[in-house]
Amino acid sequence: QAKSYGRNTYSFFTKKMNVIIQRRLVIEEQMRDALERNEFELFYQPQFDAKNKHIIGAEALLRWHNPVLGNVTPDEFIPIAENTGLIVPIGKFVISQALHFLNTWQSTCKRQQKYTMAVNLSPRQFRDVGLLSFIQNSLSEANVNPESLELEITEGVLMSCHTNVVDILTEITALGIYLSMDDFGTGYSSLSYLREYPFNVLKIDRSFIDGIVLNNEDCNLVKAIIAMSHSLGLTVVAEGVETKEQHTLLNELGCDFMQGFYFSKPIPAEQFLDFSMNFDKK
Ligand code: C2E
Ligand code: MG
Ligand code: MG
Ligand code: MG
Repeated sequence: QAKSYGRNTYSFFTKKMNVIIQRRLVIEEQMRDALERNEFELFYQPQFDAKNKHIIGAEALLRWHNPVLGNVTPDEFIPIAENTGLIVPIGKFVISQALHFLNTWQSTCKRQQKYTMAVNLSPRQFRDVGLLSFIQNSLSEANVNPESLELEITEGVLMSCHTNVVDILTEITALGIYLSMDDFGTGYSSLSYLREYPFNVLKIDRSFIDGIVLNNEDCNLVKAIIAMSHSLGLTVVAEGVETKEQHTLLNELGCDFMQGFYFSKPIPAEQFLDFSMNFDKK
């Protein structure tokens, strides 16, 4: 009990806990009607071919603007949405919105109809029995090929034992949708996951990309991850590429695709279309 540490410690803990609990409650309460109030917006971050620097696709990243809380970051609100189950309706919004935008993008920038859209999926969404049919309906509603959609999952999905995740993932890939392992290198990064599940893409977490230019060990590690991925038939995406030097080095190491602030931050839809069109002209 915190009380046994003395009165001051006790009140310190209580105050701090209260602040944390209070904020969480407000986030939960605000999030409950946030969809209806139209407070969510998707930003898009372009992904590039490492060799020729062409845009090949984008990742959809959720943003929440709330009148009471201001802008809340996904790192703070996604786990709460996950815990409350609100990620299910919010995740549906993300899928359908991202696919409609992809259709607009593909038809606006006619030179490249093969753009892909990566969407993040949380573990909780896999417990929704309607997930697969929702994805299928959204694809046909948006008039987008399954091959243009990439679903990003982290190890958390594979470790949650609520449902038969393998079956769902197998069905997803059977539809032609791409499956991507996000944040590789963090957590347990069990290699057996790569063997047991039907992944097409591996995204190296940005914590590894950070040090590759200055740190020989990080560089060797990334080199090994790329070689291993390729031998398993996986396409490799480097996340969090922030400098020209990192881009050059990753290209030398044989990395396929890249994403990061060096190229562009995640940006709103309109701005993204401008960016993409100007980039295509070059
Ligand atoms: P993530 O899927 O690994 O997304 C990559 C994160 O890295 C994004 O943060 C992106 O803005 C950031 N990033 C990209 N390039 C750079 C760079 O060069 N440097 C640095 N420092 N950061 C970079 P963001 O948008 O804050 O999202 C954080 C996490 O929240 C995501 O990580 C993802 O796990 C989750 N998330 C975001 N949107 C969704 C969503 O629609 N659904 C679900 N389930 N999760 C989401
Ligand atoms: Mg991701
Ligand atoms: Mg990631
Ligand atoms: Mg992440």
